[in-house]
Amino acid sequence: MDAYPLFLKLAGRAAVVVGGNAVAARKLELLRRAGANVTVIAERLHPALAAAVEAGELCHRPGPPELAHFHGAALAVVAVEEEALARRAAALAQTAGVPVNVVDRPELSSFIAPAVVDRSPVLVAISTGGASPLLAREIRLAIERLLPAALGRLAHLARQFRSAAKAAIPNTAARRRFWERFLSGAVAEGVLKGDETRARAALLALVNRGASAGPGMVYLVGAGPGDPELLTLRAHRLLHEADVIVHDRLVDARVLELARRDAERISVGKAEGRQPWPQEEINALLVGLAREGKRVVRLKGGDPFVFGRGGEELEALRARGIAIEVVPGITAALGCAAAAQIPLTHRALSSSLTLLSARPGTGGRGIDWAGLARLEGTLAVYMGAGEAAHAARELIRHGRDPSTPAAVIENGTRDGERVRRSTLGRLGREPIAAPALILVGEVAALARADDVAAAPFAASA
Ligand code: SAH
Repeated sequence: MDAYPLFLKLAGRAAVVVGGNAVAARKLELLRRAGANVTVIAERLHPALAAAVEAGELCHRPGPPELAHFHGAALAVVAVEEEALARRAAALAQTAGVPVNVVDRPELSSFIAPAVVDRSPVLVAISTGGASPLLAREIRLAIERLLPAALGRLAHLARQFRSAAKAAIPNTAARRRFWERFLSGAVAEGVLKGDETRARAALLALVNRGASAGPGMVYLVGAGPGDPELLTLRAHRLLHEADVIVHDRLVDARVLELARRDAERISVGKAEGRQPWPQEEINALLVGLAREGKRVVRLKGGDPFVFGRGGEELEALRARGIAIEVVPGITAALGCAAAAQIPLTHRALSSSLTLLSARPGTGGRGIDWAGLARLEGTLAVYMGAGEAAHAARELIRHGRDPSTPAAVIENGTRDGERVRRSTLGRLGREPIAAPALILVGEVAALARADDVAAAPFAASA
């Protein structure tokens, strides 16, 4: 570590800015937001600064800087272009014993000015030790996306409640659980979504309940096709907050790694040589966990409502009065098409997209191959690894041209991704590894030629 991070209290204290340009104005603004009394030393002032001086919000000393200007200041910032002036100002500040930052000149500075994410009272400061201000900015953007804009309001509410919570819940461990629920449950949800009434009601309920567990909740969450970068921000957040994660085999290991370390993980997928869990048992498991007061993330590959039996779980949970939220995910058809660079619709080639399963539905419902063969657009065939030849035969038998382009995408966006171009007539001649998605239609001819390039997503682990 090259520097010691800290947050300096500047309210009512003196600060010095040397320079009157736009950069100086930006630096100065931050100092004023922190409550500092700022003196600006410069021959000429940027209009924004001149206006502030005019309004009596700033003190202006027409340069050059002198030692006396720095005495008693809490810190100094130097934002001037002229090299000699920058050096002189920095030396004067150092002589006066005042911490100084020279913009873009870490070697002349005694402190580093971080990139800042302001969700006051939450502040995040980022430094690359002067190595790359651009990198610091990129990191700031990433963190800004991660921290909801309303986070400050949540922190304010927490502050208002600190002493009340301490009085109401004297036990330290119980209080920690209270705050955990405060930050990740209905209170936070309400605040972050701007629903003040809901937040206050939830807060009241939480305080009244004290340490005891409240009602649990099940989140039906789509994990996307594999690449964790394709998760929604919401799915990512819920993975951090879940007490239990109940997941399918199809969910990529890299996605599960994003879950909170101490979250319980239960795999209900078909493991090697073992039977899959019957759906009723999964339903019962979810209901039981929610009744224990747990926050349950039911994590499914792709989207929970596309061939994911999410509908059955939804009904079972609803029937037992368990609170549910559904978080969509990128379904295999979308993820695989993007990975293979196949536009699913195209003004010249296809004006519809049909998602279908190559396996007949439960209850003996067959597949309407005749109806599917009549469609001119794109077909996205799920669960077709072992059924490709059969599906192709049926489509051809019902009139679709054997020369229709097709593409087979194995392990889309996952390790081992592979894209192959084919035609309806040739489909299924080569073995297909599951999970695989088959796209049929004119657009499939646009697939990136593979067997050549390695998967672009697989490298992003
Ligand atoms: N709910 C999931 C689908 C579950 S059914 C979704 O929305 O994507 C399982 C089928 O999805 C697999 O047989 C395969 O056809 C498809 N699939 C899921 N993930 C895939 C992936 N990464 N690559 C290719 N196909 C995938």
